Amino acid sequence: MSPPQDKRDIGTDGSPSSDEETSRSRCLMRALKTLSAGNRMLLRAADEQELLRGMCRVIVDEGGYCAAAVGYARHDASKTMPMVAYALPNEHHEGEDAFFKTLELTWADTELGNSAMATTIRSGAPCIGRNLLTDPDHAPWREDALRFGYASHTAFPLRVEGEVIGALGIAAAEPDAFDDAEVRLLNELADDLAYGIANLRTRIKHREAEETVRRMAYYDPLTGLANRSLLREQLQVAIANARQRQHPLGLLVLTISHLQEINDTLGYQQGDRLLQAFGERLRLAVSEAETVARVGDTEFAVLLPYGDASHATQTAKRLIAALYEPIEVSGLRLYARGTIGISLFPGHGIDADSLLRRARAAMADAKQGGHAFGVFTASLDQECSSRLAMMGDLRGAIEHNELVLHYQPKVHIASAQICGAEALVRWQHPARGMISPTEFVKLAESSGLITPLTYWVLETAFRQRYIWHEAGVERPLSVNLSAHDLKDRKLIGKIKGLFDTWGAQPDWIQFELTESGLMDDPVGALEMLKHLKQLGVTLSIDDFGTGYSSLSYLQKLPVDTIKIDQSFVRSMVDSTDSAVIVRSTVELGHNLNLEVVAEGVDSQAVWDRLADLGCDVVQGYFVGMPMPAEQFTEWQGSSPWASGMAAPH
Ligand code: C2E
Ligand code: MG
Ligand code: MG
Repeated sequence: MSPPQDKRDIGTDGSPSSDEETSRSRCLMRALKTLSAGNRMLLRAADEQELLRGMCRVIVDEGGYCAAAVGYARHDASKTMPMVAYALPNEHHEGEDAFFKTLELTWADTELGNSAMATTIRSGAPCIGRNLLTDPDHAPWREDALRFGYASHTAFPLRVEGEVIGALGIAAAEPDAFDDAEVRLLNELADDLAYGIANLRTRIKHREAEETVRRMAYYDPLTGLANRSLLREQLQVAIANARQRQHPLGLLVLTISHLQEINDTLGYQQGDRLLQAFGERLRLAVSEAETVARVGDTEFAVLLPYGDASHATQTAKRLIAALYEPIEVSGLRLYARGTIGISLFPGHGIDADSLLRRARAAMADAKQGGHAFGVFTASLDQECSSRLAMMGDLRGAIEHNELVLHYQPKVHIASAQICGAEALVRWQHPARGMISPTEFVKLAESSGLITPLTYWVLETAFRQRYIWHEAGVERPLSVNLSAHDLKDRKLIGKIKGLFDTWGAQPDWIQFELTESGLMDDPVGALEMLKHLKQLGVTLSIDDFGTGYSSLSYLQKLPVDTIKIDQSFVRSMVDSTDSAVIVRSTVELGHNLNLEVVAEGVDSQAVWDRLADLGCDVVQGYFVGMPMPAEQFTEWQGSSPWASGMAAPH
């Protein structure tokens, strides 16, 4: 490594004259201006090229320098150093491309490699104040310097992950420009630029890793078809569309018979080939808008996003016919037969799980009866009729106070102290015992009972929060709102009324909204969140990772917290996919300045991993179960988490 080269002149007596002082302070000012404009550029740039180009323009336009360029060190045979971004002042703007693109530069240790930028790349240190008019090393570029009006040149290394990837070159009009203070500031600018480059590159790597994880998580490796997770998601999207545009949709579930015999007689390899051929036939038999998925070892599903009963049965017949032809595997003609079950939205179910379950019930019934396909009928399971009965019961339950709220603590990881609680509703059914909200909240949503349910929850939560306030316990209580609540125009008024009634402060109550709920109607949800936010409350996105909001949408939402869905958290110790998702969600949340909560934390191992990742808050059985109010109050008073004494090591 050669030392930094400094060819600046120093005054004869060693002390600067007042002219020099003025010119120095001018230089310092331009460097400072460049540094601060450069920082703004760093925050704005979305990709590397934009960052480099923007930085060069800032140096020339804001800093008033005569030229700026970034050269990257290629590791090819002749160590070329292409100018990947550059800027000249406006009057030379037109000649910019012609000039920089034709420069044939190298960072090799040769005569042509003596430019300031090449020297910097080789040495890893700034090459300062090269006088272009007198310096023999710069003879090849002297003519250009005169043409573009600059006389000195300084270059700074760009170091990314410990390696000098290139150099930032800056030219000034004066032959003796760039004193120590200015160099220090510009070096800082180059370091900032390198940091920005590294950051953008890391972001790309993360995006690619996430894309791979997503692909692996969504496709069946054997057939290349969508897997169960992707089908479920697409089914959810199709249901949301069908609900909005009020049209039916169909779901077919198909099982192959005789596969076990084929596996037993010919081996798994032939069985696999048969499955592949089978999947391919199904794919060719439906239109492009219709999804074929492999949802089990011997089970396929076909989603018909626009299918009524007649379209679904026609499709089933077409599939049966397509599969009738024998499939040739290794010269053998194999006959594999399929049986199909059909369910329809909304007649047989209004969510993905019930449609899948009912298509399967129809398939089992058809198989048992020896039919090629069958459509679900209510008698196949008791659910349809019991749904109606339960709907009536729920209405009564809200009126007769059969609902209760349980409270689950949230704990701040760093201090191991309780920092709030979430209110979770339960239904104490006189005959069926305690019913979980997963069973009745959806039912309430689809039957118009969600509004009275939510209002009951809100009233109870505010009352409980007031009781805690009276007892001197001031921790926020979170209330879950459903996607349907976001369409309720009276909700804001209701909440305002409760704040007034109880004399509640904005930090008493927080709200949680599921990501998938927000994505049901992203525009309407955003409006509603803005109104909620005006009340001064904290808002969380619940079940984050299951709703597929885009980054740009997320940035628009006035939320404070994201709660990573427990399905990822609970499995993060055993599944690398989940661990990657949790890690990137923590990073994403922090990059957006959001607090990150992990729910479903049910063991010390998960706590430890989350602590390592820098997650902020946890909620889960490891800390405390959801408890009735009195029990929670007692727990809150006596728990080691109340004093931070429970900190797990
Ligand atoms: P959520 O808001 O994501 O609540 C977290 C759920 O995870 C709760 O289930 C909680 O009991 C459970 N949980 C917490 N820690 C653990 C753990 O360590 N392991 C496991 N396996 N589970 C854990 P819960 O109470 O059954 O509620 C389910 C969902 O029902 C809630 O998910 C929420 O979306 C909805 N819900 C609950 N109460 C209300 C409500 O008042 N209004 C509305 N609209 N939805 C509600
Ligand atoms: Mg919640
Ligand atoms: Mg959740």
